[in-house]
Amino acid sequence: MKKIFCNIFGHHYSVSKKVTGHIKEYKCVHCGREVTTDVDGNLSTLTPELQEINETLERLYQRRHRAAQVVAPKTPPQVTKDVTQKVA
Ligand SMILES: [Zn+2]
Repeated sequence: MKKIFCNIFGHHYSVSKKVTGHIKEYKCVHCGREVTTDVDGNLSTLTPELQEINETLERLYQRRHRAAQVVAPKTPPQVTKDVTQKVA
């Protein structure tokens, strides 16, 4: 019944997992069909092979993200405001 709904109205995908900034995994809220963004930016059925690729990409993405944070630490804000006031 739910699959018939999807056949008529199309799947209603919601993001189930963010892999990288560009690649996400989606799941249909009606029938549970899972798809993912492929290298061309199109949606492909989430196969075990693609799931494995996504897990690798996610690890690489997170590692690079963490490394970038270590290389560029946040500098504390410097207080340069002059609070002295001249009294006339
Ligand atoms: Zn569906």
